[in-house]
Amino acid sequence: MYQTDLGFIAEEAKRRADDYAAFRYYAELDERSDAELDALVESIAAPIVNAIDCTQCANCCRSLDVYVTPSDAQRLSTIIPLDDIIDYERAHADDEWGMLRDKPCRFLDGKLCSVYPHRPDSCRLYPVFTPDFRWTTEEVLGGVGLCPIIYNVIEELQRVLGW
Ligand code: SF4
Ligand code: SF4
Repeated sequence: MYQTDLGFIAEEAKRRADDYAAFRYYAELDERSDAELDALVESIAAPIVNAIDCTQCANCCRSLDVYVTPSDAQRLSTIIPLDDIIDYERAHADDEWGMLRDKPCRFLDGKLCSVYPHRPDSCRLYPVFTPDFRWTTEEVLGGVGLCPIIYNVIEELQRVLGW
């Protein structure tokens, strides 16, 4: 049974901040190759992703910035005027063309995405563990207190790596 209590994982992330920070370096120093470590992380993540129902959570839609790429904008523009929803000033890179204006996301309807077929790629991909888990551990761990999938993957990875 996986931990899906959002209050619990938020508290754990605070309580164990030092533990997670140290684990980042522990994972970096693991003797596996980058590809082997990625394969291990994916093998751990797959059943957890399958078991946790995002439609009962939606915490990422309430908590995270949502980047919009040109292709995302093209898709969204078929259903809503882009000027209403995109903050163009807050793009961080050429392929992050803008960001959705509101947090929680204005498209969140209860715990469901009201623009699901048109949602940005960053929504489709989250949470991302690979490639290069070893070098993106800090970024992944940034979501450990908000995303039950990340929390449970890191829990299991810590166990498997002997942390
Ligand atoms: S667009 Fe949909 S999936 Fe993306 S953050 Fe908003 S509600 Fe969530
Ligand atoms: S990706 Fe994580 S935070 Fe987002 S809905 Fe799924 S379990 Fe919740």
